[in-house]
Amino acid sequence: MRIIYNKWLPFKGFGLMNILGLVFSRIQKEAISNRSIRHEAIHTAQQYEILALSALIALVVSNVYSSWWYLFIVVAMPIAIYILAWLIELALPPYNSAYKDSPFEREAYANQYNEEYLATRKLFAWVKYILWNRNKK
Ligand SMILES: [Zn+2]
Repeated sequence: MRIIYNKWLPFKGFGLMNILGLVFSRIQKEAISNRSIRHEAIHTAQQYEILALSALIALVVSNVYSSWWYLFIVVAMPIAIYILAWLIELALPPYNSAYKDSPFEREAYANQYNEEYLATRKLFAWVKYILWNRNKK
């Protein structure tokens, strides 16, 4: 995971943005907490899993349809699925917490204080957060 400090990304209101392990930060280096680093590291793990699965599916589809064009969408899939999960949460009540209700954010927020989490985390752990805690609000 690499952190790029800048004034433009992510958009105002957000401190950090992770794209395939490349973290853009509006926060100064000294002000980033270990909790935030762990939070972004969880997102990196999530995105790498989706990337690997997308590559596998694209390889199969490319061979079946004899076209390698499907491989070009692989890199976009982690972000596309993250945005899709957010859009689904926007459509479901409660409407004011769609960002934090996506399974990716739920997993990251639920485990960002656990220093051992990434060492013990199971593959595709975010899947169990799709329905997790939905009825407790
Ligand atoms: Zn997050």
